[in-house]
Amino acid sequence: MADYPQLIADSFSGYGHYLLTEVLHPGRGNYYYWLVALSLGFWGLELLWPWRRDQGTFRQDFWLDGFYMFFNYFLFSLIVYNALSNVFVQLFKDGLGLVGIHNLVAVEIGGWPLWARLLTLFVVRDFIQWNVHRLLHRVGWLWAFHQVHHSVEEMGFAAHLRYHPVETVVYRLFEYLPLALIGFGLTDFFLVHLFTLTVGHFNHANLYAPLGPLKYVFNNPQTHLWHHAQELPRARRHGVNFALTLTLWDYLFRTAYVPNEQANLPLGFAGVEHYPATFAAQQLEPFAELTRASRPGPSAPP
Ligand SMILES: [Zn+2]
Ligand SMILES: [Zn+2]
Repeated sequence: MADYPQLIADSFSGYGHYLLTEVLHPGRGNYYYWLVALSLGFWGLELLWPWRRDQGTFRQDFWLDGFYMFFNYFLFSLIVYNALSNVFVQLFKDGLGLVGIHNLVAVEIGGWPLWARLLTLFVVRDFIQWNVHRLLHRVGWLWAFHQVHHSVEEMGFAAHLRYHPVETVVYRLFEYLPLALIGFGLTDFFLVHLFTLTVGHFNHANLYAPLGPLKYVFNNPQTHLWHHAQELPRARRHGVNFALTLTLWDYLFRTAYVPNEQANLPLGFAGVEHYPATFAAQQLEPFAELTRASRPGPSAPP
């Protein structure tokens, strides 16, 4: 059995050291500076070629979403996630060890060429995430957390990373086992993370780039804006366009919906104008919402 208190302490100091090293040492393999560079790049494109021309240089919630970017990409890991996930993985391994399983890898793809490994990781992970995203819209308590992302009323690249950190935990829980079964190590993730970060910024950006036939494969601003539409036809009330990176799944499973490429859709959900506007209040709102929902009254996914 692992020494769990030591594991937690090591996780905090290890991640703190990693974050400090990232900030102090710019370089090509550095998430922190890639996030900064990609964000500045998309912001520049939005200012040069805006899809919605009436949107300001600093759109509504620009700074709030900027904070969310760094919080969700870096700080949350420092505060809790890294330790939590290391403990979970160790508990899981110890649990398996108790029943005599010492190697979880079911399909060994370590010998495959790098491009094949990365492509497999990317496609498998994206399909899991598409399914989790559908769950976030279908299950009442998950929707309470996912509402933070849908509280965006004016869309821009930084809205990509406005989400409640509980979402991170939910996504990673669903991803962990399938990815462990195909034997992925953390080092495999860098290029995939960078690519998905780029597409995520892109599909939230205030840019007109519908991609032509590639729209059936990759997410884009014209498709994702409808995911945030406040009003949808009744038959589609549980949501449309759940793609994170690949729209392929939405076209395959008939959840794609882009009736037109209207730039100015009302975004959010019924009552979004009353949703809390600050980071701290948005962190607490899902818990308040669930408390209210446990009493009689309306609180269902859209
Ligand atoms: Zn959503
Ligand atoms: Zn979104």
